[in-house]
Formats: sequence, C-alpha cells, structure tokens
Amino acid sequence: MRKEKNTVWEQACHHLKETLPADIYEKWIAVIQCRCVEEDRAVLVVGNDFYQSWLEEHYLPLIKDALAVTSGRNFQIELAVDYNLISEKTEKKEKGTSILPARRASATPTNLNKNYTFDSFVVGPSNQFAHAAAIASAQSPSRAYNPLFVYGGVGLGKTHLMQAIGNFVASKHPRGKICYTTCEAFTNEYIEALQANMLSKFRKKYRTVEVLMIDDVHFLAGKERMQEEFFHTFNAIFENHKQIVMTSDRPAGELSGLTPRLVSRFEWGLVVELETPDIETRVAILRKKCEQLALTIDQGLLFYLAERISSNIRRLEGALIRVASFISLTGQGLDRSKLEYLLRDTLDQEKQHAISIENIQKTVAEHFDLRVSDIVGPRRPKNIAWPRQLAMYLSRTMTDRSFPVIGDAFDRNHATIVHACQQVKTRQYEDLKLRQTLALLQQRISHNAQKAGGKL
Ligand code: ADP
Ligand code: MG
Repeated sequence: MRKEKNTVWEQACHHLKETLPADIYEKWIAVIQCRCVEEDRAVLVVGNDFYQSWLEEHYLPLIKDALAVTSGRNFQIELAVDYNLISEKTEKKEKGTSILPARRASATPTNLNKNYTFDSFVVGPSNQFAHAAAIASAQSPSRAYNPLFVYGGVGLGKTHLMQAIGNFVASKHPRGKICYTTCEAFTNEYIEALQANMLSKFRKKYRTVEVLMIDDVHFLAGKERMQEEFFHTFNAIFENHKQIVMTSDRPAGELSGLTPRLVSRFEWGLVVELETPDIETRVAILRKKCEQLALTIDQGLLFYLAERISSNIRRLEGALIRVASFISLTGQGLDRSKLEYLLRDTLDQEKQHAISIENIQKTVAEHFDLRVSDIVGPRRPKNIAWPRQLAMYLSRTMTDRSFPVIGDAFDRNHATIVHACQQVKTRQYEDLKLRQTLALLQQRISHNAQKAGGKL
C-alpha cells in the first residue's frame, strides 16, 4: 500500500509539474502530502484550511485528471487539513515567513507545545488574574495555589496558559516529570489500562509527577468510574505536595454530574476565569501572532479583524492566517467585500455568538406582550406555553448554545427543549402564519443583537 501511495501520487505530481507553470506547481501542488491511496479513493493533506478551500475551488479537477491520466483509475479525492503537517519542502523554502510551520505543535519530550509560553501570552484585563495565578504556580509549584483551576469559554487561552506553566517548570527543572494530558486522553488511557490489566502502571505514571496538567476536565461530567479514578489520582498527587493544574469550560460547581467530593477538591486551591478579551487585547494578540509568524499586515486590517471577531481567540487567529495566506499566496490586495467573502464562515459564527438567549427571550416576550418572567417561569397556560416554545426553538436555531445550556436558561430540562424544537419545526411546514412570525422575530432578534453590540 505504501508503495502504491507513493508511486500513484508521485506520478500524478510529475504530470502536474509538466503541465502547470513552475510557480503555481510549487505554491499549490508541492505542499500537498498524500496520506493514502485506496482502490478508488485518495486522501491528500494540506497544512491549513485556506489551502484546502483554495485547492478545492481551483485545482481539484486538475489533480483528479492527473491521477486518472497517470494511473488509469478514477479517484474520489478527500482533501483534509492537518495543522501539524510539516512539509519538508515548505519548511526549507519558507522558513521564517511560512504560514505553515507556525501552526505545528512542536512537541518537546514533555509533549508540550513549546509555542505556548508566558512570553507569547498577551495579558489584558480579561486574563490578568488567571495569568498572575499561573505565573505564581509555575514559580512555586504546589506551594502557591494547589490545585489551580482555570475555566473559560472555547478558544480563550486555557490550554495555552496551562502549557505555559508546564514549559516554565520544564525549563527550570529539566529532570522533573511534567505531565500534560487532556481529560479525554487520560480517560482513554485508563480504559486501555483497565482492559490490559495494567492499572498499576497507569497509576504509577500519573501519581509520580511533579506537575500534573489535565486539560478540559468538563469531560469528566457524568463519568462516574473515571471520576473515582481521578479522585484517587488527585489525592495521591496532592498528598505528595505536587502541583495540579486543571482547565474546564465552566466552574466545577456548574458541571452537572460531577461528584460533590471532586467539586470540593477542584475548589480547594484557586479558581480563576479567562474572560472574553477586550478590543485592545485582541489587537495586541494579533500583533503578537504577526510577530511570531513574521507576517506584515496592514494595521487597519488587524483592527478590522479584532473588531469583527471577538468571542474566540482561536477563531481570530484562524482569520488572521486566512487573510495572510490569501495575500501571500495570491499576491492580491484585499478590499472590504473580498475580506467579507474570505471570512464568511467565521463572521457567521461570530454573529451567532453575538445573539444571546436573553435577547431572544426578551424579544419574544415583547412580541407577545408578555414579561420575560412569564417566558422562563413555571406557569403553563397556552398563551404563555407557545411563545415559550418559540423562544426555545429560536434559541436553538439562532445561537450556538447546546440543549443543556438552553435548558438552564429556561429553567427546564434538556428534554423539554428538544421537544419544543420538534414541535415548532413540524408546525411551521403547514402553518404559513407561524413561518411569518418566526421570520419577523428572527429579524428583530438580529437587529437587537447588533444594536447591543454597537454595530447599528
Ligand atoms: P482554549 O484551550 O481555551 O480553547 P487555547 O489555549 O487553545 O484555548 O487558545 C486558542 C488560541 O488562542 C491559541 O492559539 C492561543 O495561542 C491563542 N491565545 C489565547 N489567548 C491568548 C493570549 N492571551 N495571548 C496570545 N495568544 C492567545
Ligand atoms: Mg483547550
């Protein structure tokens, strides 16, 4: 198989090299890596999603043809993204200016990403406290705050900050055993150890560390057996006076299905929150990323990105890379409409984020001449129950919140929200008036969200 993968793809490349202008070939084809070739399917991999969409839009038919011509077979092509991909060619050729290498997770023996340091972490009001706590924990592990519990939304820097602690400790104590793992990987490893009768090895590995960092502990919610194991790991490390750092998408007390004894342990040390950064911090983060990636980007453009993308730094960084890739690979400038097009998916996601459930409840209540307290309250007369179901449906379709989160906002359980969404969805097919009401409500909700965000 390996041999076939190489020859089929190499021959296709050879063909493309002969048919395409040299610079186009180097820019767009030489960077592709072939992962696997099967009977009628080939998996090709590129280093970021900009390459993926550009290749899909512009070069996929050519690649397909080249494969067909050289192998005599028709292939379905799957074009995947692997951010860790380092194409040797790209690295050699574009060292220092490439958009690719910077995204790779450069593993040190501690399995940490060495780009995630305190130096590369921009401090602002939204993360000042968490940052200070992380520095203190890194400087005196197990003595400052133990455990350190960092929580916050997706893409706000939890993993970065946690690994910065690990990298710092590793640089000071190169011999210390520093262990970073995601809670999911930890769980999988536990299950494997259990199956292979290797629990004592598993326990030894995790209970003899200097610093244990467990990322995304919200993954433990509802997993009783794992919580039990984690409880003992926690106690062993704590009693050994070693540092524990954890991250989660919400405070321990709000993780449903987490045993009270774990909740209380998670709160023993210091609990800090990473909040959404303000515009100045977002601009500073973009500048820092430009510096790291050796990108020269117009300041106005940076400001535009920071202004439009506010809820998630990973998304902001993704947009920067997309824009930088576009400029460097096409040699074209970007005007406002091109920019909107290039970032359309990201901007849509942001819009969804900007819409709050509160806004929906308020808008629906106003429309039906009710109070918000009626919408979220326990009463069930029909004139309230139906608008309430509409608000639940709109919360699900107009935001990126999950059923449980919406359930919390309406003081109902998850199943009630699922039921409401099904009701409204089914009824709209036969009810023109309902469709009109929904359209009107959607329009008002978007309008209110923009007004609240200062965009109107
Ligand atoms: P989380 O774990 O909270 O989902 P990450 O730590 O993975 O988020 O951060 C997402 C991206 O944003 C990473 O590339 C990280 O380097 C970057 N990032 C987040 N916060 C900051 C910050 N304060 N300064 C610089 N980069 C940041
Ligand atoms: Mg993370």
